[in-house]
Amino acid sequence: MRTRLLRDPDEAAAVLRRGGLCVVPTETVYGLAARADDPDAVAAVFRAKGRPSDNPLIVHLADAAQADAVAHVTETGRGLLAAFAPGPLTVVLPARPGLPSAVTAGLGTVAIRVPSAPLVLAVLGGTGPLVAPSANRSGRPSPTTWQAARDDLDGRVDAVLRGPPTEVGIESTVVDATGPVPLVLRPGAVTLDALRALFPDARAIGDGDEVGRRSPGTQHRHYAPRARVRVVDDVRQWAPGPDAAWIGLSEPPPGYALVAVCPDVAHYARRLFDTFRRADAAGLSRIDAEAVPPVGLGLAVMDRLRRAAEG
Ligand code: AMP
Ligand code: MG
Repeated sequence: MRTRLLRDPDEAAAVLRRGGLCVVPTETVYGLAARADDPDAVAAVFRAKGRPSDNPLIVHLADAAQADAVAHVTETGRGLLAAFAPGPLTVVLPARPGLPSAVTAGLGTVAIRVPSAPLVLAVLGGTGPLVAPSANRSGRPSPTTWQAARDDLDGRVDAVLRGPPTEVGIESTVVDATGPVPLVLRPGAVTLDALRALFPDARAIGDGDEVGRRSPGTQHRHYAPRARVRVVDDVRQWAPGPDAAWIGLSEPPPGYALVAVCPDVAHYARRLFDTFRRADAAGLSRIDAEAVPPVGLGLAVMDRLRRAAEG
């Protein structure tokens, strides 16, 4: 299939209404969108990405009022949506019947999010609810530019809606809101502290929890570039070389072939996946990534680094 490059969200919405696949810019990362109510379109998303079928999809909505159509919105969910929608927070709720089973991976729950980026909201204004997993081939780093999404999915999707580089740069915070206490399944831009300001008992999922059952996606190899990622938490581990890239808050010693020094953790998050992809494009074999304190957004950055290093 020939993949069209679009600039007009109305054209993207038209592709999607017909049951097609279209890459769309959100504030977190670029997403691969399809109608959430169309089993064939949803199946095509899994095929295009090479995504394991036990990894459910996030349903993207134009506004929080649409949540009641797909989910039983709990009191916890209501509070989270009131505080954080639109924005980079995904809320897991008991699902209403009717969605294609591939969307929920048969879990009985559904993950919903109201994105805030203007282009995806313009698209959602012309469609119903959309699934939109990250627009990468499964296992690769999430795309933060339309070019990165096209590199992965050219010829596999109907269209790519061009937009700016994404603001946040890493995926949404996923929170289980089926019970009275919000449980963070995947850290992201909405921090645990921000959640605790509203729900003091909010917590992150731990080793004792059944992670696999609650958030299947976190079991899979993720975010991995071809180059080997090494998390560096001590200056003595610096190892510059013509085959290595550096990303971190510190200025590294000379000799790295590619260097991304970030003024703060927000910039680090924004540039992380792009740096992975640049290192791969340059044929580098190693990426040294500086560890940051695992607090606030640093928790999400460390989560992505750890998974990339495992891959
Ligand atoms: P992606 O859209 O590629 O960023 O991945 C979506 C994330 O949301 C994955 O980690 C999924 O496992 C998670 N997710 C989606 N639906 C559910 C659900 N019903 N319950 C728990 N986690 C979910
Ligand atoms: Mg993904």
